[in-house]
Amino acid sequence: ELPREWVAVDDYVSEVLLGTDAVLEQTLATNGDAGLPSIDVSPAQGRFLELLALSMGAKRILELGTLGGYSTICLARALPKGKGKVISLEFSERHAEIARGNIARAGFADVVEVRVGPALESMRALLAEKPEPFDLVFLDADKDNNPHYLAMAMEMVRVGSVILIDNVVREGELANAASDDVRVQGQRQAIELMGKHPRLRGTVLQTVGDKGYDGFAMGVVVG
Ligand code: SAM
Repeated sequence: ELPREWVAVDDYVSEVLLGTDAVLEQTLATNGDAGLPSIDVSPAQGRFLELLALSMGAKRILELGTLGGYSTICLARALPKGKGKVISLEFSERHAEIARGNIARAGFADVVEVRVGPALESMRALLAEKPEPFDLVFLDADKDNNPHYLAMAMEMVRVGSVILIDNVVREGELANAASDDVRVQGQRQAIELMGKHPRLRGTVLQTVGDKGYDGFAMGVVVG
């Protein structure tokens, strides 16, 4: 049971800043009907992703962990009309199929590419393509592999690119060095890599809301 005011504030933010959003609501309904877990970013966080991408003028965005495409649609909304690209990597063929439907209904079929497979393999394949640098990378797949994803992402970015990692705080477990949860250990390693990486300047923001107590790590490429 979440503290009542966490939910109340998210409700208030939805009412005053987010408004009704038929596309995202339909996406959640479709995901629910298909039995997908509701582990997408919250509406306020989705708007945050959109605004972050918008504020930096992102044209090339890489996402790891598509699920039903909720965050993917939020990110795609920040692209200049008819330009740019979101590549989203997803392990599950079924999730990818549902996401592609949602993304097409949202009007982004031509700018979003969902690639299916284990993200470690997809990232290797992507690296081999020597892609143009990504402006924004959002890590939201299997958290235990985040140190690897972060290291690989660093090969596909430029000065000023942003790397955002979701679900790093995990109800405070991030601070528990003795945690036996591989996701906690993965996040700790990723953040420690961010901290000592000569090309990254980073921070962690703790969050509360209708998805509980968690947080994002953010790194900006500075060299
Ligand atoms: N970003 C989504 C959103 O906010 O709408 C939520 C992503 S959900 C937290 C994590 C997703 O990562 C799941 O769909 C899961 O199938 C996928 N995933 C898990 N392990 C993966 C892997 N090794 N490679 C790629 N995707 C993976």
